[in-house]
Formats: sequence, C-alpha cells, structure tokens
Amino acid sequence: MKIHEYQAKEIMKEYGIKVPKEELALSIKEVEEKASLFDGCVIKAQIHSGGRGKAGGVKLADNVEDAVEKAQSILGNYLYTKQSGPKGKLVNKLLISEKINIDAEYYLSVTVDNAKANLVIIASSEGGTEIEELAISNPEKIAKVNIPLTYGLRSFHIDEVASALKLEGDLKKELSEILKALYNIVIDKDASLVEINPLILSDNHLVALDAKMNFDDNALFMHPDIEALADPLEEDPKELEAKKYDLNYIALDGNIACLVNGAGLAMATMDIISKFGGKPANFLDVGGSASEEKVTAAFNILLQDENVSAILVNIFGGIMKCDVIASGIVEAAKKCDVKVPLIVRLEGTNVKQGKEILNNSGLSFIQADDLASAAKKAVEAGGQ
Ligand code: GDP
Ligand code: MN
Repeated sequence: MKIHEYQAKEIMKEYGIKVPKEELALSIKEVEEKASLFDGCVIKAQIHSGGRGKAGGVKLADNVEDAVEKAQSILGNYLYTKQSGPKGKLVNKLLISEKINIDAEYYLSVTVDNAKANLVIIASSEGGTEIEELAISNPEKIAKVNIPLTYGLRSFHIDEVASALKLEGDLKKELSEILKALYNIVIDKDASLVEINPLILSDNHLVALDAKMNFDDNALFMHPDIEALADPLEEDPKELEAKKYDLNYIALDGNIACLVNGAGLAMATMDIISKFGGKPANFLDVGGSASEEKVTAAFNILLQDENVSAILVNIFGGIMKCDVIASGIVEAAKKCDVKVPLIVRLEGTNVKQGKEILNNSGLSFIQADDLASAAKKAVEAGGQ
C-alpha cells in the first residue's frame, strides 16, 4: 500500500526527522489561505507517484497570487510522470510547503531486500534525481549497506552511510538519528520502503524535502493506523470493488479478460494467452468458491474495462463441482448481459454435467476442452 508524501512526512516527524513546515490544500481557496502563511512557497501535487518535479507537479511560488496561479495549473488536472502510466494521475490534493534553501541534495532509503532477506540502506550524495536513472548511469555513486535482521542497525552501518554521503561531526549525528528513525519505521510499521529524496542540507541541518513510504499489504491488518491512510481516489475503482468481494484482481492493459479460480492457474492462463499472441486485460483469481455471487461481481468488474473484447473463463472444479460452477456462470452471464464472446473451459469433477448446463443455457458460450485451445479461441474471438 502506498501513502502520500504529506502522510509519510507526518510519520517521519513523529520519529524525529526534520521536515519543512507545510499545509495540505484541497481547493484553490485553501491554497490562498495556506500560502499566505508563508513568505513564498512550494506547490506540490499529492499523487501516488514520484517524478512529479519533472512532470510539472512541483512549482515554486513567490507570493500568494503566484501560488494560486500555479495551483490552478496543477489541481484538478492530470499529471503524466514516468511512473504514472499513460492514463496519468488526477491531482486532488496539494501540499503547500515553506520555501527552503538547498545547499546539497542526498538520496536515502531503507528497503527490504527480499532475495537476501535483509533490510538494506541505499544512499547517494546525488539526490533529487530519480534513483533508477542514477542506478543505470552511475551505479558506483549509490551505496548499499545491508542490515541483517538478526542484529539490526549498528554504528558501523551508520559510519558506512556517513562516509558515502561525506557527512561528519554534527551532520553525521543528525544522519545517524535519521537512519535510526527510518529503520524503526520499517520495523514498527512493516514498511517495505521508506525513502527521502531529496534529503537536503539546509542551513547546516538535514531536512526531508520529499518522502515516500510503501507498506506490506499482508501486514496491514496489524496496523490499522496505516490502513486508515489509504486514499481511495488513488486506487483503480475496479480494484476497490474487487476487494469488497474478496476477489484478487489486478487491471492490465490487454483485451482478453480472464476469470480463473486459483492464483497459479490465473498466471498460467495469462501466460498461455500471451503465447497465442493475445494480451490479458487483467489478473483475476475468484478463489476457491467461484459462487454465482462472486462470478457476477467478477463479470461486472471485467465489463467495466472498455478494452475487453473477450472473456476467458478457466475453472478447475476440484472440491467445487463443475455443474455448480456452470450454473453460476450461466446465471451471472444472464444478469450481467455479457455482450463480448465468452469462452469457457471447465475441467474436473462433474465436468460432463457442467458442459451440458452451458449447452442448454440458451447463451452462446464458446467451449473449449483444454487450456491451449481455450486461449487460442479467446485470442481469435477477441481480435487484435
Ligand atoms: P518528485 O519529483 O516527485 O520526487 O518531487 P520532490 O519533492 O522530490 O521535488 C522535486 C525537486 O523540486 C526537488 O529535488 C527540489 O530540487 C525541488 N524542490 C522541492 N521543494 C523545494 C523547496 O522548498 N525549495 C527549493 N529550492 N526547491 C525545492
Ligand atoms: Mn522526490
């Protein structure tokens, strides 16, 4: 789960990290109010995406009038950043921040290294720019310090980071406090990434000018305070709807919708669609039950995606019997008025009875006996 910059900074502040004075604004009127608190300010789009600066989502304003003008060009508009995808991100919130002198910009983060089962500190004296770009152009400028979970953050880790950032004396002490705070946030809140980019040097102090935090979805149930920070405006409405029905749904950009029971089978289905030259429109695992209610919810979600030109239903009836599933599919398809070709592959217990139910439904299902022919038929029926 992602949160906004202003929320991440609130958490950092609680852990003792210095952040600029800032105020959230949801309307132009609020921009006017909040900007008048500062002598010049920075207007920052609050969207779940980095790279806002380059996309015109971070603007410096000299006075209130200027702030209002700049805010009007951002609020209510779409931002197209390197991370936003082609659809862009609608800006619903702005952060109005005090203007701060920047003497140096650093990159600093603590993240999970899944392969090593460690935490890792990533640091660079060249902050501000996107770390992904720097990693390609100048990987030697990025320091990585592993922190084994068995003994946690120690002073020699901090020494290593300080020397990579060339910080000494009081600034090294400040860096040390910041590193402890970032480490503790990851541990306390089950964050998967806590990032400051840029961490700036301003009037001889270190300040977090931008902040990013991601959290492990599977640990959210232990952190209701973090879960409450979710912003529904940032999520795909189809994915939110899917959560309500306990469906595992991820929107993709292809045209063949998939409805499958079991995550492994869903992956295999997507792979085989690609093998036959098609592109999946989504990942959708309806789980073990594949009840009529769930299949109806799933069809409704799939059909909201206007790119969808065919639906491939691939169900393996194990404990759930194929005839029960087939009845569910028939009822759901009638309710949802599916107009695109519907390809169904059933396999498993009572498959014969299941196929008969589909044949006698009065609906025009395209049936397939195995996964390969189902995928082939779906790609043909879906066109493109
Ligand atoms: P991002 O592009 O989404 O990562 O947004 P950032 O918050 O990192 O802002 C991008 C850049 O804008 C920073 O690297 C700074 O160079 C600049 N910037 C942001 N806030 C201030 C500020 O208060 N003063 C000055 N001078 N520059 C700022
Ligand atoms: Mn940034």
